[in-house]
Amino acid sequence: METNSIPALFVKKQSSLVGPVILLGAPGAGKGTQAKRISEYFGIPQISTGDILRENIREGTELGKTAKLLMDRGELVPDELVCQMVASRLRLPDCANGFILDGFPRTVAQAEWLDGHLAGQHFFESTKGRLGAVVIQLVVEYNQLLQRLTGRRTCPTCGRIYNVYTTQRPKTEGVCDVDGSELVTRKDDREDVIAERLKNYEAQTLPLVTYYGGHKQLSDINGMDDLDSITAAVFKAIEDGNRM
Ligand code: AMP
Ligand code: ZN
Repeated sequence: METNSIPALFVKKQSSLVGPVILLGAPGAGKGTQAKRISEYFGIPQISTGDILRENIREGTELGKTAKLLMDRGELVPDELVCQMVASRLRLPDCANGFILDGFPRTVAQAEWLDGHLAGQHFFESTKGRLGAVVIQLVVEYNQLLQRLTGRRTCPTCGRIYNVYTTQRPKTEGVCDVDGSELVTRKDDREDVIAERLKNYEAQTLPLVTYYGGHKQLSDINGMDDLDSITAAVFKAIEDGNRM
């Protein structure tokens, strides 16, 4: 079975204009997996704040040094730092037709900043006018989140996500199907840190559901369905959002 890339039944679309897509959901809800599929299908970039922070840690930047201490404990990086980082990423030309935010916003302050930032941008001027963000929440029960996070392995080369407890396990144990790299366990996917991350998610990120609750394009999707059904529902939410 194809684990991470989009299956043939979703014929590539590479739509001309998608606008911003915001993926909400707890750690382990499947945001990264779905974001990669959206990115391939619609031809827009995945902006994962967690990935950018991990890149900064690898490169030893100042931001990386500050972030590492917090991330290793399962705490959030301060809003100002993350917002600045997102602002510079959104300035790159590949965001012109839309982008997927995976792991951002994570606090109400970040969501307020994003609203203001997008309102001041001209990314989406076209014959259709400016597109609002499509906000999608992937909903997964607590026990499943725990299992997914403890079983998660990632490829350091291509970023694909596997799980040793589910059908998303790699064909050969410990090795990426695509490029043969040795899979790794993220440092914050250890049990004590996971508990802290889930606690912080409930306290700091869950309030975003209320924040976006009045949003006409907020869709709740059952993140415990099989992978392809989730992807189909996600694509539909994005397409419906674009028609409004
Ligand atoms: P993720 O890969 O999305 O699970 O993020 C890993 C870690 O990076 C989180 O536990 C936070 O410490 C940090 N992080 C990622 N995105 C954000 C954000 N939007 N705001 C604050 N911290 C973040
Ligand atoms: Zn790989």
